[in-house]
Amino acid sequence: MAPELVIAVDRIPSEGWSASFDLRSEQADAIARDRGWPRVDWVSGPEGNTRVLRSGGDVFVTGEVRAVVRCTCVRCLEGHERAVTEAFHLTYVTDIDATPGEHELRPEDMEVEALPGDTVDVAGIAVEQVLLALPDHPVCHPDCRGLCPVCGTDRNRAPCDCRAQTPDPRLAALARWMPSRAS
Ligand SMILES: [Zn+2]
Ligand SMILES: [Zn+2]
Repeated sequence: MAPELVIAVDRIPSEGWSASFDLRSEQADAIARDRGWPRVDWVSGPEGNTRVLRSGGDVFVTGEVRAVVRCTCVRCLEGHERAVTEAFHLTYVTDIDATPGEHELRPEDMEVEALPGDTVDVAGIAVEQVLLALPDHPVCHPDCRGLCPVCGTDRNRAPCDCRAQTPDPRLAALARWMPSRAS
């Protein structure tokens, strides 16, 4: 990882520190793998910029990240590209210069994280923000018709007449039988 994308908290200048980043897909892959995060199919790796400010032991990281990831639609199982643009505002606490009462933001007051190793890893933050922005159940299009549960046809490509057919009488009999067994 490029060293300029990691800064130690005690080296953040008083006016703040800025960095821009443009990670290759392989770099983003390696970062996610090192941290045990889910693997995603990067079309273009995270790029954007960040600004890091420090106030006593508190560290504020803001910025914006953009990336394109290939996702699989949960309805039709087709791959599709998803562009992510995410602004982030993160607060971390460190033990540096922490004297009682100094923190403006206390961990118990706000959702803040401790900063591992007292360093800000911009590349790791960028990858994490993209992963957090991805939907749990991606769909290729809000109107995706998905696969027919009966015949498996991709209904975006070809209609099927499963719904028009009358149910198989043997299945209808089974449907009547199942609830009575369950009760
Ligand atoms: Zn779909
Ligand atoms: Zn069908």
